[in-house]
Amino acid sequence: MGLVLRNGNLIDGTGKVVKDAVVVMDGSTIATAGSAEEVRIPQSEKQVIDVGGMTIMPGLMDLHDHLWGAGGEYAGAGGATHDRFGEEVTFVEDHDAYLAIFMMENARRALVAGFTTIRDTGSPRDMTIDIGRAARDGLFVGPRTLACATIDITFPEGKKQVHGVEGGNVTGPIEAARAAREKIGAGADWLHLWATGAGIGFWGAEDLLLTTEELRAATVEAHRLGRRVTCNACGAEGMKNAILAGVDCIEHGTHIGEDDEVIKMMVDRGVGWVPTLYVSIAKKEAADVAAAKGERSPIPEYWLKRELEWIEIWRRGFEKAMAAGVLTGTGTDTGAPYLSHGKNAKELEIYVSYGMSEMEAIEAATRVNAEILGMDDRLGTVEAGKEADVIVVRKDPLKDIKVLQENENIALVIKGGEIVVNRTDGGVAR
Ligand SMILES: [Zn+2]
Repeated sequence: MGLVLRNGNLIDGTGKVVKDAVVVMDGSTIATAGSAEEVRIPQSEKQVIDVGGMTIMPGLMDLHDHLWGAGGEYAGAGGATHDRFGEEVTFVEDHDAYLAIFMMENARRALVAGFTTIRDTGSPRDMTIDIGRAARDGLFVGPRTLACATIDITFPEGKKQVHGVEGGNVTGPIEAARAAREKIGAGADWLHLWATGAGIGFWGAEDLLLTTEELRAATVEAHRLGRRVTCNACGAEGMKNAILAGVDCIEHGTHIGEDDEVIKMMVDRGVGWVPTLYVSIAKKEAADVAAAKGERSPIPEYWLKRELEWIEIWRRGFEKAMAAGVLTGTGTDTGAPYLSHGKNAKELEIYVSYGMSEMEAIEAATRVNAEILGMDDRLGTVEAGKEADVIVVRKDPLKDIKVLQENENIALVIKGGEIVVNRTDGGVAR
């Protein structure tokens, strides 16, 4: 049993385009993929779909998602998400039952937009662990969902924590190692450590949070237990601390271009980078819309100031990192203000506007992301032996990368050899 896609334009994720391609799936894996001249369609019980010249490509991946974030407009600006008291909220702090359903729906939105794999970078009580488990168990139709559990410095009581740090507030390397063990024991796929502040919050890019010793203690435990580690790091010094501690990946890295040593260290050690460039641009766009109406930006002033400063710093850093060959994947921070679930492909448009080719942007969101996850033996390309995570796109994303942002263009989503979204007959499966 299995599916066959024929008559497609295959972008296989390795940088190649195959015209008049055939992809043969055998259960949940890809048996063969190549041109119609080379690949024979087996005569066995296969469902053969003629995709009529559409684009066949690997399922997209987003390595920085926040399923518990509302993603719409920021609280107070007419956002659609409310807590149980009727207050508008950005992040839904609610009863766990409601939150779980909310997160499942947001995961589903990523899947139906063509994202067959997501990594969630932090949720209250590490709830994403169970969302991922529910998707794996087939309790709902969702993407492969990898859960990060957050470890941060010990904050004073009552400090608002946007990354769900329960049990991960630490002081000292021993506590960091303990938190790592507990969170991995509870089922975390990744650890998400905090080396610096971020766009939101009291601490900014240059403020150092976990020490290098704390970062290292957690990282050593994670690696010993077979898990990978990513690190929120915006300023160059924090990035260096994280890299020296041995982390596998850097989130945001806004100031990557401000210190050439950082880029060299990342290239030498093969550290991945998930920039999330659209985060700052989205805030600027929202502020511009508000200004045009004669209103103030709905996000706090200090925060907007930081984001506006970062746009150019980040763009320069991205160009330098590209030139140097930093292992650059894609992630969005979807769920944060102005980053709506299901619009995850917006990030690729920014990559292209900053000088990547459309093909390189697609590779970043597929093969390179799989490499950062350490899952490139199973995911990220349409090749024999890989998991059959494949999407069929109505228009050519190599001509216009923006076509990936519209669900109506994502004609088929196939996860593990199963069609989970089918818009070829106008309907969405489930
Ligand atoms: Zn984030």
